[in-house]
Amino acid sequence: MYQQYNTGTAVAWPQGYRAAGMISVDVDTVTPMLWRERHSSSLSPAEVEQRLFGIRQGVPRILSMLQETNLQAVFFVPSAVAELNPQMIRDIVSEGHEIGVHGYIHETLSEISSAESQEILNRSLQTLTELSGQKPVGYRSPSWNMSSYLPGQLRQLGIRYDSSLMGYEQPYKVEELLELPVSWYLDDAPHFIYLGDGNDPHAPKDSQAVFEGWRRAVNGVKHYGGYFSITVHPWIVGRMERCRDFAEFLSWLANDPELWIQKGGDLAEYLDELRLPSTTLVETHAQILPAFK
Ligand SMILES: [Zn+2]
Repeated sequence: MYQQYNTGTAVAWPQGYRAAGMISVDVDTVTPMLWRERHSSSLSPAEVEQRLFGIRQGVPRILSMLQETNLQAVFFVPSAVAELNPQMIRDIVSEGHEIGVHGYIHETLSEISSAESQEILNRSLQTLTELSGQKPVGYRSPSWNMSSYLPGQLRQLGIRYDSSLMGYEQPYKVEELLELPVSWYLDDAPHFIYLGDGNDPHAPKDSQAVFEGWRRAVNGVKHYGGYFSITVHPWIVGRMERCRDFAEFLSWLANDPELWIQKGGDLAEYLDELRLPSTTLVETHAQILPAFK
């Protein structure tokens, strides 16, 4: 039965760390556009250029920032991007970072069938394993969408964690799969995305203010002994006009001795031993309220 009241106590982090976090880099580039425009006969060359910047300059720039701060991250890569950029995958892995599954062309889960999802997962795991030399253990759904069949498919394939949901602010279990929760606030996209098509809700925010906000947010997480995921996109955060402010934020994270910044696979290893709150996914009104007509 669906349970609403299901409290989670703070996770005991190792060696006196007050909070834990994961840095994730979603290497989407053109794929959300390929999915969005899958029924169109042409693409906007300007948007393609804006997004490809992420591969050309954003990824190398983020890799060098991580190297400077000695931080390790998870790069969630749509497998079409990996197929087209095998050297990029080798460069990421050679610096000790983790590669995670993120769809083929960033398919929205609510718009595909369970059979299509299975096929995409099989193909993505095969591609990423071949190119990186190691089998991915983490998954992030495109656009943080979800379907109730997905955790079961991931568990069957040996995936150890998902990082797409916000049901708790601490690691928890969803359909028996470890969830490393995310946050829209700690994602660069809502603050900076601007495609100039007349539909953007606001101008890009000031990067100094955004990363100062992130620093304050992480201090809030420390207060509660919690967990946070930072999410960035190389085509967004990797641009010169904001990446130095991001680098300063990374350096602040790296130099706080009370923060345990880990890759998802390492967090999964540690959390395996702990008792975490667990929940199931809901897709119908009646699952919440049986009397609903
Ligand atoms: Zn993405």
